[in-house]
Amino acid sequence: MAPTADSPAGAPDPQTGAHVDTIAICSGRPAPVPDAPLNSPIVPASTYRAGGEVGYARYGNPGWAALEEALGDLDGGRALTFATGMAAAYAITALLPTGRAADRPAKLVLGDNCYLGVAAAARDLAERGDVSVIRVPVDDTEAIVHAAADADMVWLESPSNPLMGVADLAAVGASLRELPALLVVDSTFATPVLQRPLALGADLVLHSATKFMSGHSDALLGVVVGADDEVMDRIENHRRHTGATPGVLEAFLVLRGLRTLPLRVRHAQGTAQLLAERLAAHPVIQRVRYPGFGSLLSIDLADAAAADRLVSGTRIWVNATSLGGVESTFERRRRWPEESADVPEGLVRMSVGLEHVDDLWADLTAALG
Ligand SMILES: *Cc1c(COP(=O)(O)O)cnc(C)c1O
Repeated sequence: MAPTADSPAGAPDPQTGAHVDTIAICSGRPAPVPDAPLNSPIVPASTYRAGGEVGYARYGNPGWAALEEALGDLDGGRALTFATGMAAAYAITALLPTGRAADRPAKLVLGDNCYLGVAAAARDLAERGDVSVIRVPVDDTEAIVHAAADADMVWLESPSNPLMGVADLAAVGASLRELPALLVVDSTFATPVLQRPLALGADLVLHSATKFMSGHSDALLGVVVGADDEVMDRIENHRRHTGATPGVLEAFLVLRGLRTLPLRVRHAQGTAQLLAERLAAHPVIQRVRYPGFGSLLSIDLADAAAADRLVSGTRIWVNATSLGGVESTFERRRRWPEESADVPEGLVRMSVGLEHVDDLWADLTAALG
C-alpha cells in the first residue's frame, strides 16, 4: 500500500507521541538553558581541546550532531550524515561481506529502477567480482522476497527514479524480518513526512538530503538512518576512515531546511496531484507516472524532440536535474547517456516546487502548444 499523508507516516510517533511537524521544529536544538541560542551554531573547527569525546573534526561536529538528532527522530532511528547522498550510499555498500573473508561474492538484490549513481556503484562492485547483483522489479514483492532468500542486502528505492515504481515496503519488510539480508530503502523521494521505512521493517534508510531536506537547491548532504547500533557503528567507522563527512555550513542549511520539510512536502504534493490529473487529460501527454503521493512525477511525450521542446520552452519550470527544491525543475532523463534504456526517450521527470499551481499549469500548457 502506498503511504499517504494520513498513513502511519503521518501519525504520531509511537515512542514520543509527537507528530512529524512537531519533531521537525523541536528536535536538534541546543539544551534549553538561559541565553542558549535557539539554533545550533555553525562550529568551523578542525580540532578540539583534548580530553573530550570527539577529539578531531573528522570524527564529529556539534552541527552534525544537532542535524543527526533531528534526522534520527524523524525516521525513528540513529542518523549519520555524510558529504553527499552517494557518500552515504557507498558507506552502506561497504557493509557487504567481500574480500578474503567471504567464501563467495556477496549478493546484492537491487530494484530494477534506481538512481544512476547507485546503479553505477553496483556495477562497479559487480565488475570487481566482489558482489553479484540481481535486479528485481521494485513493485514485485514476490520476486524481491524470492531473490532475498540467500542475499546479503536488498536495496530498494521507493518511489523509484525516474519510473516512479513503488515497493510494498510493509510486505517486503515483514517477509525479510526472519532473513539475514539487510533491507536498505532509499527514501529520498518520499522523505520521513510520507514514509518511515524503519517502522515497516527496513534495517537502513538512505536519503539524499541534497533534495527535499535541504529543499532550497543550495547544499549537498547524505544521511543513513538505522536502529541497530552495531551496524551504525560500522557505518560511522567507515565515515571516520574515508572522511566522507558533511561540511558544517551544509549541515546548518539542511537542519534549517528540515524545519519546514513537512509544510513544503505536503504543499508540493497537493500541487503535484492537481498537475498529474491535468496532465493525464492533456492530448500531447502519452502517460503520466505519478505514484499517488509526493511531488515527483514523470510524463511520457511522443519522442525526445517533443520532450526537448517542452523543457526548453517554459518560463517558470527550470530545465535542470536534481529535485526537491522550492523551485519546480524538470528534465528529459535520457539526455544523460548513462540513463537506463528502460526509460523512454520522451520521458520528462518533474519535481513540483512551491509556485502557484495555476502558474505552473499555464507555463506547461503554453510550452506543450
Ligand atoms: C540524488 C539522489 C541520490 C544521490 O545523492 P547526492 O546527494 O546527489 O549524492 C541518491 N538517491 C536518490 C534517489 C537521489 O535522488
